[in-house]
Amino acid sequence: MSMVTATRQEMSFCPGCSHAAVLEHIGAALERAHLTPGQVCLVSDIGCIGIADKYFACHTFHGLHGRSLTYAEGIKRCRPELTVIVLIGDGGCGIGTAHLVHTARRGVGIKVFVCNNFNFGMTGGQHSPTTPMMGRTATTPGGAVDQPLDIAQLALASGAAFVARCGALDKNFGQYLDAALTAPGFALLDIWELCVAYYMPQNKLTPPALIELSQSLKMPFGVLRDARSTEPSDAGAPPDTAGVREARPTSAPTGATARPAPRASAAPDAALFAGWPARAEIGVAGSAGERIRSAVGVIGEILVAGGLHCAQLDDYPITVRKGHSISNLIVSRDPIRYTGLREPDLLIIQSDDGLRRWGALQSLPQDALVIAADELTLPPTPARVERLPLRPIATQVQRENVALALLARGVVACGWMTAEALRAAADVAIGGKFRDANLRAIDAGLQ
Ligand code: SF4
Ligand SMILES: [Mg+2]
Repeated sequence: MSMVTATRQEMSFCPGCSHAAVLEHIGAALERAHLTPGQVCLVSDIGCIGIADKYFACHTFHGLHGRSLTYAEGIKRCRPELTVIVLIGDGGCGIGTAHLVHTARRGVGIKVFVCNNFNFGMTGGQHSPTTPMMGRTATTPGGAVDQPLDIAQLALASGAAFVARCGALDKNFGQYLDAALTAPGFALLDIWELCVAYYMPQNKLTPPALIELSQSLKMPFGVLRDARSTEPSDAGAPPDTAGVREARPTSAPTGATARPAPRASAAPDAALFAGWPARAEIGVAGSAGERIRSAVGVIGEILVAGGLHCAQLDDYPITVRKGHSISNLIVSRDPIRYTGLREPDLLIIQSDDGLRRWGALQSLPQDALVIAADELTLPPTPARVERLPLRPIATQVQRENVALALLARGVVACGWMTAEALRAAADVAIGGKFRDANLRAIDAGLQ
């Protein structure tokens, strides 16, 4: 029986994230190895893959970011009879690079599965040590300029007994896991993955493109060392995946592909914002994928361009494509020293996920305005309530722009700006590649 206790759908990863497939394969490999839960210890640290331990029925240990190899070494030294598996991300490998080098050097018999998706997924898609040159991330929007860390080569150079690299969706993935689990000594598998929330869409990365990427980076897939073999290289590689080993490129990056420059935004006339009070607080509660945070960001940018102070504070699950998405905005004529809401003047509730997360509405002030999707069942509230049908708005501006339409409606309904003032300010302040879609959404809300 598999030690994995959840289905892909039940796991909290973003739908389509390859972490779920990796966990299923590990469960199957442990089953093939006839290991019982009492014989296995899974060690993880921080990052999306770090939540994997709760889906395994075996010994688990969860620790600080990048330190899982240290815990695993301690566990293995105390309980050598256990199969000790480390699940770590590329970010964790960067943070704990020295641990990787020295654990491999000491030949500790742990199995390290690196879930390498080229970015820090959990914290918003920042670049990691393995981000390929020109890889676009939240912190390298024009493309990464550094040479990526080759984790497999590092393990090889440090004396690992078994080293291989493969894709999480390869048909031979299970064979690599079997080989790593049964290898004597330190084993490392560099598993290339797809972060569907951040790295994949930014870089148009697909499963077949992973192989092209490995070729272009001269980081071949295949078994790079298996100490059980008498051959110095490639022995034990699944037949169609053994790759070549060549020197890594040392040239500086060339030919940066620039994104189209966004239209420069400008400052709208300050008179358009005269209706804003000294302080206003706005909450928007919806679901992942509804661009809740983007909508609040757009309104915030317009207001900041008009000379107001804004603070946006978001709340969403660590795996960003599932569950609730809440974004709060404080608008003030004075600098904002604390970003938490006291009590919202305007609350927009777009979905059941958002409503559940927000909780009771009983404590809202009487003069607050709640704008809610008409199909939701709202708990009692003393606030004013306006119901809006979302379907016609979505037909007009597409589902992902509905939140911005509702927000525009709320700003006008609260009397903070007239429809004409908001339209005029948005036209001047909004730039970027979503300018047209954002202006259409604001228009739809104002109608
Ligand atoms: S943020 Fe990326 S790595 Fe994390 S669960 Fe979502 S898709 Fe997977
Ligand atoms: Mg990562």
